[in-house]
Amino acid sequence: MKKNRPIRIIGCIVLLTLFITSTALGNNGIFDISRETETLQPLETQWEFYWKELLEPKDFAAGVPELSGYVQVPGAWNGYQINEENLPGSGYGTYRLTVLMDPDRITAFKIPRILTAYRMWVNGEEVATAGTVGTSLKESTPQYLRQEAFIIPEQEQVEIVIQVSNFQHRSGGILENILTGTEEQVMAVTKRQLAYELLLFGSLLVMGVYHLVLYRYRKKELSLLYYALFCLLISIRTLLVGSGFLIQIFPFFNWELAHKIQTLSYYTGVLLLLLFFQELYTQYVSKAVVKASTLFVGVIGAVVLLTPARIFTLINPLFQVFTLLLSLYILMILFKIYRKKEAGAKFIVFGYVFLIITVFHDLIFHSILMSDFHFLNRFILTGNLSSFGLLMFTLTHSFVLAFKYAKTFNQNEEMTVELRNLNENLEALVENRTEDLQESYQKIEEQKWVLEKTNRKLQMMSQRDGLTNVWNRRYFDEALLLEWRRASRYQESISLLFLDIDNFKIYNDNYGHQEGDRCLQQVATILQEHVQRSADVVARYGGEEFVILLPGTDQKGAISVAETIRKSVESFGVTVSIGIASMVPSSQVSPDDFIHMADQAMYKAKEKGKNRCVI
Ligand code: GH3
Ligand code: MG
Ligand code: MG
Repeated sequence: MKKNRPIRIIGCIVLLTLFITSTALGNNGIFDISRETETLQPLETQWEFYWKELLEPKDFAAGVPELSGYVQVPGAWNGYQINEENLPGSGYGTYRLTVLMDPDRITAFKIPRILTAYRMWVNGEEVATAGTVGTSLKESTPQYLRQEAFIIPEQEQVEIVIQVSNFQHRSGGILENILTGTEEQVMAVTKRQLAYELLLFGSLLVMGVYHLVLYRYRKKELSLLYYALFCLLISIRTLLVGSGFLIQIFPFFNWELAHKIQTLSYYTGVLLLLLFFQELYTQYVSKAVVKASTLFVGVIGAVVLLTPARIFTLINPLFQVFTLLLSLYILMILFKIYRKKEAGAKFIVFGYVFLIITVFHDLIFHSILMSDFHFLNRFILTGNLSSFGLLMFTLTHSFVLAFKYAKTFNQNEEMTVELRNLNENLEALVENRTEDLQESYQKIEEQKWVLEKTNRKLQMMSQRDGLTNVWNRRYFDEALLLEWRRASRYQESISLLFLDIDNFKIYNDNYGHQEGDRCLQQVATILQEHVQRSADVVARYGGEEFVILLPGTDQKGAISVAETIRKSVESFGVTVSIGIASMVPSSQVSPDDFIHMADQAMYKAKEKGKNRCVI
């Protein structure tokens, strides 16, 4: 009866094996659920089906109408063959089931959403209705209203009649199980489901808002935005699927609009997921895939927005294929990320795998597969496990984002501390260095000063006389030798004055040695004042004796200089005797002889009565 042959074949094999072990599939027109169980019991069996007939219990009471066939509940009527006609999604019909049950135990029904409007009777009494059942698009109004119906059964055999019409959705019929049980059981399940879904809604909402605010202050991180939108979309979706809390509180919320929101949240959610991954693991996600997916979702999203549900629900299988391919692609990326041990990969992979499993669980639940593989109904009892998968998924992603941020913050903090330490150290370091530098500079200055002093001393000691600061004897000897040779070479005159202070012993005795020293300095100054040629050399020869070498000066010049000196010293208060030697050097005379000549002349001056010059 179904189009998908391979699935049908596999399905038949599985069915066959299950058929042997299962007894619940027997069908004699009366469905027996009289045996006691703890849980809610589904009215999962082949129901009588009257195609294109809206029958009421009274019609059945009047006489048995002509049966079109049996259809499996849960399952869409699409594809069933009645009167050699393959049933389309849109149309209307009546379901009927006679149930054998314990009237003390079964008092309530949990009715799922039925596509897309219904009226339900139990033992002739109308117990539930959703939307308006009609025979055309115009006459019918769709409504997804999950609800509970309560009955007071009197006998064991109960007749259930359900009129269903659908002109707004791709698939028609009772696609999910109708459950039975006691009032308490049914209400407990309903409450649990609501609590669970509202918890999901709240968690996702908070996560969405939180990450949206985070994004508001960190616009650079697009991953935060994608993640926030994803959470918000899924939170809204949670109110529409499952027990459909939104419709519970707003029963007349536009069915088309609700369907559009539900579909678009799914479509954009898939895209946001891809974008999120791209932001988080850029180098792993192909740009081409992202572009193509965005385009695809954009086009399909436009179709959803612009067309009614009966048209856009037709493309849902296409999108499911897209989801499947994309899921595999992302799984491949995650595998790579996991192998490269990227940050948070373990969590991401866990959350994603969990999500995929639950999504596929739901897809199977909602898909035609369910009617092929009846046994699946035993494992897959809710169509809303993916909400939980999403919660786990979002939680693990929140962890990863939180880790990422905590890590960044920690790193920042560490770096700040390091930087501060470095700064402080730097200041201390600079201070230390500056001090060191200053110290060594001072040391260098000191050393330089000491060196200069020593140098000066050394030079003085070697060339100058310490007391009078005129040239010393050693310098004089060198200078004499040099000038003597030069004069000898050029045959020039050279003169030498040998000067001795008269009666200096008495001077010392009268005024003291210190005063005597001062007198020596004074005499030396006078000598230097009267000797102006650069080549002239005034030197202390020893004690109170000075010599004055006058290169290039002849006898006449020497006498004149000697006389001026004698007079100058005399005016100062002491007298000197000066011996003068003057000659053009010849090879027979040595510098020592020359000195001796001057010395002799000086003695002559002493002998002649002092305070005079003798040549
Ligand atoms: P004369 O006229 O014969 O030269 O008599 P004089 O006293 O100068 O005799 P003499 O040359 O024997 O004495 C030199 C004296 O000069 C001896 C010493 O007291 C003094 N004298 C030598 N060198 C220094 C010196 O460096 N400082 C001082 N204050 N006196 C010195
Ligand atoms: Mg003397
Ligand atoms: Mg003397």
